Amino acid sequence: MKQGILNLSREEVAEFLADKGAPKYRTNQLFTWLFRFGKTDFSEMTNIDLSLRRALDEWFYIYRPRIVRSDKSIDGTIKFLLELADKNTIETVFIPETKRNTICVSSQVGCAIGCRFCNTGYHGFIRNLLPEEIVSQFLIVKDYLDLWHSQTRPPPKPPQSDLLLGDTEHRSGVYSNVHEHSSTGSTKEETDCGRLVRGSTERLSNIVFMGMGEPLLNHKNVLKSIDLLMSGEKDGISRRKITLSTSGIADILKNIAKDLPCRLAVSLHAPNDSIRSKIMPINNVHNIKSILGACEEYKKYHEYLKITFEYLLLDGINDSKECAQELLRLLSNQTCKVNLIQFNSWQGSQFKASSRNKTLEFARILEDGGIEAPIRARRGEDIMAACGQLK
Ligand code: SAH
Ligand code: SF4
Repeated sequence: MKQGILNLSREEVAEFLADKGAPKYRTNQLFTWLFRFGKTDFSEMTNIDLSLRRALDEWFYIYRPRIVRSDKSIDGTIKFLLELADKNTIETVFIPETKRNTICVSSQVGCAIGCRFCNTGYHGFIRNLLPEEIVSQFLIVKDYLDLWHSQTRPPPKPPQSDLLLGDTEHRSGVYSNVHEHSSTGSTKEETDCGRLVRGSTERLSNIVFMGMGEPLLNHKNVLKSIDLLMSGEKDGISRRKITLSTSGIADILKNIAKDLPCRLAVSLHAPNDSIRSKIMPINNVHNIKSILGACEEYKKYHEYLKITFEYLLLDGINDSKECAQELLRLLSNQTCKVNLIQFNSWQGSQFKASSRNKTLEFARILEDGGIEAPIRARRGEDIMAACGQLK
């Protein structure tokens, strides 16, 4: 039976090929075809000799999920519903910004953590994603937006698009119609998306594990996929541009801290255990102290990568002045940043977003206390693509 080549690390592919008597440089060539040119067919890898191409095709397949639909937000964000081989579906979100393009990937089908404010958690857990199912979310967005390098010439540089929104300013209320289209063929909309993206940058520059699922509960496959995403020759993504967001599974974080090659974001969302346990029942297992302890372990190995604490502001729950002051004390000896997140509502959710004034006041208290506290822009809310709206 064929193996998925995107389930193997670069070292594993090299070892496999060495066993078959192929020279070492073939692995480099293969990875260039996979990650620089986005090929899904071995027969197109023309600098690999024909007999090896045929053999590769007998040993391996190159995975892509199927795009069931894509929804484009007024702000340029595109949400993809992807169908996996077993018919389960996941969501991946593409977020264009002025200086970068980010892709938000899922790590599991559903999530077992059950945070009260999260739509994904509300729908429960189905299964972990394989490395190829994680990596291919990135690859298929590049397919869709036609972002692959041409083999003969660099991609063109059209003028800047002024349709793109900034990435830190709050833009609620500016959304109008939902632009919807299904996406199997080449449509005008797709071409427009491609232009929009290249107007800001030619690459998918950033990856965040902030889609469906708790990445640390699938850490083996997630680490392998990060490794693959970083190893794509010149087009590999730098560790500084990959962020793993976790609800804080302290023991796992501690164990893998050394091997986690990327940035870390921790969904804190409360300044103390009593509030946190009410909105995140997982806090009864991994409390704030144990999470901060695990963060210390991460910092030992990644001194140069500042940790981000995510803080979702929920009206009347965790958004008071006192909460901001308590958070400041809690994080007083951390080198960190706090990302303030506005609640994205979904049908059946019991929370309300904090008001604009409260959000600004919360940010000001943190900033005055010396902690950087940007308010994260809402992206793709009109198409239910924002954080916590995926299901
Ligand atoms: N499971 C991981 C990563 C996926 S969730 C984690 O929890 O960190 C990504 C981010 O979205 C987390 O910070 C999460 O707390 C936040 N989030 C969940 N539901 C949300 C909602 N309804 N509105 C805004 N942010 C939400
Ligand atoms: Fe899972 Fe993250 Fe949602 Fe919590 S916020 S239920 S950990 S996806």
